[in-house]
Amino acid sequence: MKNKYTIFLLYLCASTILVTGFIQIYDLSISSFQTQVNVQTEMYFHYRTNQIITLFLSIAGISILLAREGINRELKLKAYTDVTGIKNKHACLEEMSILECNNNTLNIGFAIFDLNNLKKVNDFYGHEKGDELIQSFAHLLKQAADKKYFLGRFGGDEFVVIIQNCTEEIMDTYIQRVWRLAEKYNKNVSVRLSFASGYAVSNRNHYYLMEELLQEADKKMYVNKKKMKYDTMIEDPQLSKILDDDRINAIGQDDVTGLLNYEAFLSVVKRVINLSMQDHDLAIICSDISNFRYINDTYGHKEGNNILRKYAQELKKQPFCLCASRVFSDNFACLADVTGMSSNEITALIEAFNTHFSTVINEEYKGCRLILSSGIYFIPGKDENVDIILNYANTARKYTKNSYQNILVYRDEIDQLEKKKASIINSFHSAIKNGELKVYLQAKVSCSDKNICSAEALIRWQMKDGLFCYPDEFIPFLEQTGDIIDMDFFVYEQVFSYLHHRISSQKEVIPISLNVSRAHLINPQSFLKRIKNMLLTYPIPADLIMFELTESTYIQDMKSAVSFIDELHKLNFKLSMDDFGSGYSSLKVLKDMPFDEVKFDKEFLLEMHDDNSRKILHQMMSLVKSLDKIIVCEGVENAMNVTFLEQSDCDVMQGYYYHRPVPMEELIY
Ligand code: C2E
Ligand code: CA
Ligand code: CA
Repeated sequence: MKNKYTIFLLYLCASTILVTGFIQIYDLSISSFQTQVNVQTEMYFHYRTNQIITLFLSIAGISILLAREGINRELKLKAYTDVTGIKNKHACLEEMSILECNNNTLNIGFAIFDLNNLKKVNDFYGHEKGDELIQSFAHLLKQAADKKYFLGRFGGDEFVVIIQNCTEEIMDTYIQRVWRLAEKYNKNVSVRLSFASGYAVSNRNHYYLMEELLQEADKKMYVNKKKMKYDTMIEDPQLSKILDDDRINAIGQDDVTGLLNYEAFLSVVKRVINLSMQDHDLAIICSDISNFRYINDTYGHKEGNNILRKYAQELKKQPFCLCASRVFSDNFACLADVTGMSSNEITALIEAFNTHFSTVINEEYKGCRLILSSGIYFIPGKDENVDIILNYANTARKYTKNSYQNILVYRDEIDQLEKKKASIINSFHSAIKNGELKVYLQAKVSCSDKNICSAEALIRWQMKDGLFCYPDEFIPFLEQTGDIIDMDFFVYEQVFSYLHHRISSQKEVIPISLNVSRAHLINPQSFLKRIKNMLLTYPIPADLIMFELTESTYIQDMKSAVSFIDELHKLNFKLSMDDFGSGYSSLKVLKDMPFDEVKFDKEFLLEMHDDNSRKILHQMMSLVKSLDKIIVCEGVENAMNVTFLEQSDCDVMQGYYYHRPVPMEELIY
């Protein structure tokens, strides 16, 4: 408005002065003609003065008109220029249409730059700081540019640069120059500049119209932005403030590693989730160093702490790691920015990190076999309870022990399995008291006459709802807690009592096999003591009991296993090598372990489709036979199995074809 008035007044002044000037000239010329003869001399001075005034007025008029033009031009320039001093969107669009009209767009390069986190800077530090950031960036763009480049601000935090006679190299060089200047700028400021960029160049390989150049550059800019999300997040001013909160760091540091302690970590995670969940994908990663006790025992606590510190430092350096904590002992948690990453991608990243770290440590500490296991939980939304989130990640980590992987992403099934595990562990003792656990017997038959010659005791858990929980489902959990020892002794007691009762009642008895969990080998003396006591309580001929040991029981320490077997032999018990052939059973094991019986694993019969398998099984049986061992075959399911076993050296058959496991009291023989 103000400008319009000024222009109007200037127009008025200029025209008045010009008109007055011309009137003066006209007036002067007329009057000078009329009087030139009479008053030539007196008037000469007056005439010259008038001429000078006229000339002055004309010059003033012309100057005013020229000034008006100048103001006009300046106004026009202002209409095209931004507060940043570079062209505004209007000018950008005009430039684009001019270039479009100029024959063709060949060799035109178009770049888009987009500032990251401008909204957050505005919200957090105020608009002045935001404006300052925009100005600074415009300045950088200018500084990096050649004079011929067209620079414009397209919108709030979006800038464009148009370069004529451009090549990809020219554009690359320009963008790199901007990056370098931004890096330099960031060294001295609290609010850092961060931006994404994308460009397109129209050339013979790919010809773009102006509009297409813009679209292509924009597309590439977005790809770039997505890729660099975690960078932008770390540069997020609010987030840095949370992560660098001195108060939290001071009260919440772990002395050994310098990481946040658990309390501080929970508080930071909560705040970061609230702040960044909308535009970032976050995950919690829980990791654990297995064999850490070995490190402490072998190298001492000082070295142990050293390794923990190293791990903490390396973890913090990972680009995905926003903050980390040592939860306890060798257990770490990390809040990770996983924006745009699939679960496979983050798993691969952590796998690489874990492997690298353990390789470095294992090389440095000779004989050390450090292994890292991790669980990942993708945080689904803002309203998650932080304790629960950590628990999920930790659940996935713990579950790695049941799988063959060292890293697992949390899934609902894991949760269900963990819940089942918890319910099994918690209810096991009451289940024994409530009679939910029962001993079943599966009869075995002699190969020669098919009569029942012995049986195997197998545990069954019929839960309150009537459903059966099978040993393979609950035994692994009871092995983890050590409750397997109580479970086995529950079975042993039932069987000893059953045999004792039958002998006392003068009923026929058959030898019964009992499974021995590997947990007993940790403390064989305690096992032997309890068994001896059991013999005292239920005096039965010990050779009615055949203890079955699977490979996992003895393979770790064959020497101790041999003396364990010897001790049992001294008490007159029999020993069976269970599941022979299912693991790494070698001929050496067969030769060195003083078993009375070898029980061929059911897998053998399942795989008997081809001639070679049959030949191998046949030969193995005769080899075992030659060592004077009783041969039992499990998993006999059909007549074909029977025919084969009849033609081999098998002594005893066990399988659904003859008998299924039944409650102990129901077995008739
Ligand atoms: P195992 O010692 O190899 O026991 C034989 C398993 O094979 C039993 O499964 C039995 O039901 C099954 N089986 C028997 N005949 C056939 C057949 O013809 N075909 C097939 N496919 N399977 C057959 P179950 O009872 O589920 O026991 C599984 C495993 O759990 C046992 O394998 C044993 O390792 C463990 N287990 C069972 N009861 C006890 C126990 O009281 N103490 C300990 N420590 N472990 C036990
Ligand atoms: Ca067995
Ligand atoms: Ca078996």
